[in-house]
Amino acid sequence: MYVAISLDIDPDANSAVEGRHDALSSPIEYGEIRVDACKKGLQKILELLEKYDIDATLFYEARTAQMLVADGMDLPKLSERHEIACHSLKHEDFLGKVSGIPMEKKSIEESIDKAKEILVKIFEREIKGFRAPYTRINRTVVKVLEQLGFQYDSSETVTLGTGWAGKPYPLEAFDSSLMELALPSFRDAKGKKMSSYLWAIFEGRRIFSEYIDAVVQARDIAKQGLFVFSIHPWHLYVDCRGNQFGKNQARKNLENLESIFSQLKQILGIHILRQNEYLEAWLEEKDSN
Ligand SMILES: [Zn+2]
Repeated sequence: MYVAISLDIDPDANSAVEGRHDALSSPIEYGEIRVDACKKGLQKILELLEKYDIDATLFYEARTAQMLVADGMDLPKLSERHEIACHSLKHEDFLGKVSGIPMEKKSIEESIDKAKEILVKIFEREIKGFRAPYTRINRTVVKVLEQLGFQYDSSETVTLGTGWAGKPYPLEAFDSSLMELALPSFRDAKGKKMSSYLWAIFEGRRIFSEYIDAVVQARDIAKQGLFVFSIHPWHLYVDCRGNQFGKNQARKNLENLESIFSQLKQILGIHILRQNEYLEAWLEEKDSN
């Protein structure tokens, strides 16, 4: 089985807001966008990835990337070994689920196109992958991604085991041939549903070994499949309401994350790689059959 570590690099404790397309940092009453915790968390995670020699996939919200660069971070250098992918322009609520104002095709197109342009300018790299804010996509978003030349989306969550073995699939449900690299969901030892987003660790609700157990279990179900982990860098230092974690919790979060990276490296029969790398190899193999 293959494992990908992906980061959604977006504003601290971001939240969709009624009446506007873009997201704000919580508490939204302040009307602010903050990236302090994101910056700290991203620096730490990139250090850990280096330490464990892991290539990851970085889904950058374009606005956050701009703010981090303006804040003195050398993102192109820090991201060199990783895949650069897109996580929208300003964390738009495309479907209008919270904003109450679903976006028209034209404005979705403008915002994703602009996001891509900003990321290409900063990183001078090709952008192939997309993850939607709140992992919410629909037919319009998928069509736009296809038109803008994206190769894959990674927003859907699918249950591992019941007919899905972690393989890429075309988004036929949206009349599209865009490939999907879905996020897995699965059951913990007690049968409770779990996702591969690590937020539950950072909120003190789960421990690292539960994720390692999940990978070991998935290894047999998803033999040539991909198990995608996802992390919000800010979540190491603030909770989803925007409150700073105490020193102890922040230290625990880092330890938990480091344990995941170090244990993943030791599990037999898994290979950690970037999402684009996995997809390319998979497509090649499919072509040769
Ligand atoms: Zn996000």
